Amino acid sequence: MTFKDLEIIEPILKALSAEGYTHPTPIQEQSIPMLLNRNDLLGCAQTGTGKTAAFAIPILQHLFLDHKSTSNNQRKIRALIITPTRELAIQISDSFTAYGKFTGIKNTVIFGGVKQGQQTDALRRGVDVLVATPGRLLDLMNQGYISLKDVEYFVLDEADHMLDMGFIHDIKKIIAKLPTKRQSLFFSATMPADIVDLSRKILGNPQRVTVKPEQATAEKVEQAVYFVSKKSKPKLLVHLLETEAVESTLIFSRTKHGADKIVRFLEKADISAAAIHGNKSQGARQRALGEFKSGETGVLVATDIAARGIDIDELSLVINYDLPNIPETYVHRIGRTGRASASGIAISFCDAEERAFLRDIQKLIDQKIPVVTEHPFLVDGIDGTPIDEEKPKNARSQKSGNDGGRNNSWKNRKPAAKKQR
Ligand code: AMP
Repeated sequence: MTFKDLEIIEPILKALSAEGYTHPTPIQEQSIPMLLNRNDLLGCAQTGTGKTAAFAIPILQHLFLDHKSTSNNQRKIRALIITPTRELAIQISDSFTAYGKFTGIKNTVIFGGVKQGQQTDALRRGVDVLVATPGRLLDLMNQGYISLKDVEYFVLDEADHMLDMGFIHDIKKIIAKLPTKRQSLFFSATMPADIVDLSRKILGNPQRVTVKPEQATAEKVEQAVYFVSKKSKPKLLVHLLETEAVESTLIFSRTKHGADKIVRFLEKADISAAAIHGNKSQGARQRALGEFKSGETGVLVATDIAARGIDIDELSLVINYDLPNIPETYVHRIGRTGRASASGIAISFCDAEERAFLRDIQKLIDQKIPVVTEHPFLVDGIDGTPIDEEKPKNARSQKSGNDGGRNNSWKNRKPAAKKQR
């Protein structure tokens, strides 16, 4: 199944291809036809499944095909997406921008905690799609900056988070202002009774789509965590790359600056590596990726955003140099390995400050990640005290409970010693 098979129009296909999307994810495959048929939708899915594109693509397509407004100041808000957090709102708005870049459809994003001036300026210039958090939306509605009377497409995203965050009254006030004739989409990762109740208030006679989180990916990939101090991470990375025989390694860094730093110390250690991130020109990114794919460079260092469009089947190893603070990001990252061969290896470095992230990740994937206890830069598992200087003769066991003695098992799969250049 391709996006073309889903009868998506050319300007959007072109944008998806520019994003590096080759095939629709399961939620996209199921939802896009229903939404293009103008059904309401109740989606049981969480972030990480590709649900943003699942709703953004059909909305953009509808808006494009009956393009009513031509000049900016005639644009009316015809699609409204509400989502609980600023981060999600920005991500969704970025997705509309990316998928809609050849459609001429304009979107903007509003959220609280910042001055409203830039947001009201953007609204005044005219938008077709508004992505908002509930509080700021109501605030700007009350001030007269926003009218919802032209909304034809309404998305309530992460409904369970919304209720957890106490947004129920705001949501009810917003719904009351929407035209009754509209297409409505409702997404929630979980469906307890109060969420089902709320969905009934919003949806007509919805189609239903349920997509399991990407746990399956996490189950397929062999994972390991190294407890290491922040200071020793560079040494541990060089040590692993020098001792493990892997052909292609993708290293994730939380920041662009961090990615550059990693490349610099790897080069000092005579390991050829390249970084791709938002500060690099498109040309430099393409070049780095090309060299990585051809095997010329064995190590690619990427930020999460830059890695989105990367499509490489032969990755043998993913290293999380930093653990992500959003657990779903971990699943995306490790899903980069083990695609073609159906098994891959994902190693994570975890310093004292990242222990909480590790806990969240393990909760999401419902697995304990085995801890590697045999390495020269081990830190105390309980309080994170570095014991970098010298490895104790009998490194304490930090078995992670239910790993059934699989510690270090990934290390036994391949002979060591090939250096990456
Ligand atoms: P979401 O669940 O909407 O937050 O999407 C999760 C991630 O998957 C985002 O980084 C998207 O850019 C990416 N993504 C969404 N759809 C696809 C696709 N069809 N192919 C590849 N990546 C995708």
